[in-house]
Amino acid sequence: MKFEDYYLIEQLKKSIAKQGYKRPTDIQFKSIPPILNGEDVLAIAQTGTGKTAAFAIPIIHTLHSRKLIRRPDGIKCLVMAPTHELALQIENVFKVLGKGTKVTTFCIHGGVDQEPQKEQLEKGVDILIATPGRLFDLVSQQVLNLSRVEILVLDEADHMLDLGFIKDINDLMRHLPKSRQTLFFSATINDRIKKLAYSLVTNAIRIQI
Ligand code: AMP
Repeated sequence: MKFEDYYLIEQLKKSIAKQGYKRPTDIQFKSIPPILNGEDVLAIAQTGTGKTAAFAIPIIHTLHSRKLIRRPDGIKCLVMAPTHELALQIENVFKVLGKGTKVTTFCIHGGVDQEPQKEQLEKGVDILIATPGRLFDLVSQQVLNLSRVEILVLDEADHMLDLGFIKDINDLMRHLPKSRQTLFFSATINDRIKKLAYSLVTNAIRIQI
């Protein structure tokens, strides 16, 4: 299977080709169809497997094909990541793959001034990548509306638990609609991670590579 054989918007196919990606990696091959299908996914995949594009590609396509971009009523896709570095890396993948499409992407994390983040959020963003602490802070200040989120991604969920973000995650879930698509990515799996995963996903497709 090659990327050119996938049913994806043309601009996205162009940016995939521009990156030099010809064939999907294992995790992409297994994740892209169910994500495009609107299903919840629980994937066990390590960094370096192409896991970021495994969710970024179908998310960009879905937001476009469902005309969920540039709407004034709030962000449509929320990606939660444990660290600044990972959040910025994910933002970069969305920006590179979303180039030429109309989708807007923004990243918020702690340790920097909140004001520019608030200004950008007020202008409107389709895809928001965030670390849980700053995200919770901005939601508490009511500068961020999560009630229109259609797709939630938790990346490196195991790392988020290790860093003690469980309370922030659980508190944030109260601000998200129950009816949504959830994509749960973790490098490892154990009982604690399973408990968190199954509190967030419904009838998820399980993928292990
Ligand atoms: P990740 O696991 O998301 O950190 O990605 C690891 C690396 O794989 C990144 O440098 C990506 O640019 C690269 N990559 C992702 N998907 C593909 C693909 N289908 N073909 C070749 N390289 C890829």
